[in-house]
Amino acid sequence: MEQVTDYFGSLVFDDKVMKSKLSSDVYKSLKKTIQDGKELDISVANSVAQAMKEWAISKGATHYTHWFQPMTGITAEKHDGFISPDSDGRVIMEFKGKELVKGEPDASSFPSGGLRATCEARGYTAWDPTSYAFIKDKVLCIPTAFCSYSGEALDKKTPLLRSMQALNKQALRVLKLFGHDDVTSVKTTVGPEQEYFLIDKDAYLKRPDLIYTGRTLFGAMPPKGQELEDHYFGVIKPRVQAFMDDLNKELWKLGVLGKTEHNEVAPAQHELAPIFSTTNIAADNNQLTMEIMQKIAKKHNMVCLLHEKPFKGVNGSGKHNNWSMSTNTGLNLLEPGETPAENAQFLLFLVATIKAVDEYQDLLRISVASAGNDFRLGANEAPPAIISMFVGSDLQAVLDSIETDTPFESHASKSLKIGVDVLPRLPKDTTDRNRTSPFAFTGNKFEFRAVGSSESISCANIMLNTAVAEELKKFADQLEGSKDFENDLHKLIKDTIIKHKRIIFNGNGYDDAWVKEAEKRGLLNLKSTPEALPHYLDQKNIDLFTSHSIYSVSEIKARYEIAQENYIKIVNIEAQTALDMINKYYLPSISKFANFLSETIKNKAELELDSTYETETIKSLSKATSSIYSLKLKLEGELAKAKTIEKIEDLSMHLRMNVLSLMEEIRTIVDDAELIVGKEYWPFISYGDLLYSVK
Ligand code: ADP
Ligand code: MG
Repeated sequence: MEQVTDYFGSLVFDDKVMKSKLSSDVYKSLKKTIQDGKELDISVANSVAQAMKEWAISKGATHYTHWFQPMTGITAEKHDGFISPDSDGRVIMEFKGKELVKGEPDASSFPSGGLRATCEARGYTAWDPTSYAFIKDKVLCIPTAFCSYSGEALDKKTPLLRSMQALNKQALRVLKLFGHDDVTSVKTTVGPEQEYFLIDKDAYLKRPDLIYTGRTLFGAMPPKGQELEDHYFGVIKPRVQAFMDDLNKELWKLGVLGKTEHNEVAPAQHELAPIFSTTNIAADNNQLTMEIMQKIAKKHNMVCLLHEKPFKGVNGSGKHNNWSMSTNTGLNLLEPGETPAENAQFLLFLVATIKAVDEYQDLLRISVASAGNDFRLGANEAPPAIISMFVGSDLQAVLDSIETDTPFESHASKSLKIGVDVLPRLPKDTTDRNRTSPFAFTGNKFEFRAVGSSESISCANIMLNTAVAEELKKFADQLEGSKDFENDLHKLIKDTIIKHKRIIFNGNGYDDAWVKEAEKRGLLNLKSTPEALPHYLDQKNIDLFTSHSIYSVSEIKARYEIAQENYIKIVNIEAQTALDMINKYYLPSISKFANFLSETIKNKAELELDSTYETETIKSLSKATSSIYSLKLKLEGELAKAKTIEKIEDLSMHLRMNVLSLMEEIRTIVDDAELIVGKEYWPFISYGDLLYSVK
């Protein structure tokens, strides 16, 4: 039987392949570029291109593409053949260094937020040698960044790489203070756990709302939802198992370490957890994972739904962004150590993260803001829209002891002295893991749980890396000239805890009391995308991004505008789809059923039979159709009004307050009607039939 080890990474131009296909000089110099970001010589690039091409052709590839992540959130590729005409009119397979390192896709239709005037619509793509090239559908895919000719980032990878560099620079300064002269680079690591739904394709095709918007805009709850929780970690159905086996194999060939898969809380919901890797690679791999999940699902006549909230009343899907920082010497900076010095260092990186999350709550909230995720955050199934941190009772006791100079219980009779004492052992598998916290410490990493299932993880990590880089910078500035390092360090950690402990909340994030408590603490509660996005342009955030060279002012504005426009587009499409379903299907179908009932009443009258059921039902349905009709006129009015609003801030807010809320109101009436209209009269497949469509 074929072993996983036989094909794992077989479609990746990884380190092992590089070592075997490149001369040792070329390999060494490429390695230097990968590890330390040294610029690549064109002769080296030529040799790498040559080897890459030969390897790709031997694996059946015929084309290559610069694979990039424009600001739409999906990936883009434009295929070029390896084939070039030679002088005798025959063809040769060609691929040069310059084609490897730089490309010019005709990418004028990608959003640029005004960064790229259409007259110079071309941007260029640049190879990211730290993320391995791979083969997908006979195409050699080269991970690249996408920039305008004036150097502005037009994609999600460029700022992510910049944020990793910023964090690297500041973390190295801090590590020097602890005597780590051997450390030459610090990289952030991420393991994004991905949730998704699997629906039978034939069932899916009976739902225009799923097709056009990725979520159901209508639908009454089935008699059996997720109340029984029998799906969670339940037995996986054979069809789903076959999908997972196939998916695993495809991902493994691409070197993506998909690890565990289990059923999630909702029926038809599943999760894939990869083994963590360097952040830019994790982001590339997550994009690939989402793409391949959808492809493999189709092969099995299913559809993989990545929307954050495909079904109202059923848990939505998210992505858990497990995040940490680690050195080239293999040290995880969020791992509590064994010695007093290691622990002092751990605590410093820990409080830097606490301070970062507190001071840049708004940016973290923005990084997960989308029309889809608005249905999930704060809806008692996902963390609230309030950003807070969970550290657990053991670590909390440590922080308390430092803050108040009071004895730490297991520490004899004295309070914890940083740099002198060891930390008490912190159990890694803390049983008090809190699923309601948006940002939880899980023993040796933080888990940012508010990310939406369909979103690229880049944005969340750009914000996180940059905010932590900023705090590390401030710490390094403060400690570098210190004459009494141990004392100053102790004071810095203590002061930081005192100032930023308001962001720590170990209780139940779903509780209403938390909303009030958070308000008292002065924490932000940005309930929706239109409320969150404008903070992008707050002066403190502009200062943060520009001072670390993550974004220029125009790049921030471009991202802000694209995020707003994206929201506006999505809500518009949803509203149009809802109107179409109401006008062409729901109203006529309900009327038709009412007509059937009224015919029945006539027939019964001739037979002098009782027709209470028919009469009462007609009354209810008639009330429903009247309400639906008048509300849909109102909805059309609000959409017409939307066309006259010019400022994007006003427009997105209008859509949230006046359009989405009306859609919700209409939906409630339609869903109630669904419960009393005969099944054969109902125009669309029910929730129950969708959610249990995969047998
Ligand atoms: P669980 O959360 O189910 O207990 P784990 O703790 O093993 O599982 O890991 C959850 C996710 O966190 C996995 O995707 C894993 O790869 C990732 N992870 C583990 N360690 C790190 C780290 N140092 N940095 C980033 N992600 C990590
Ligand atoms: Mg998890």
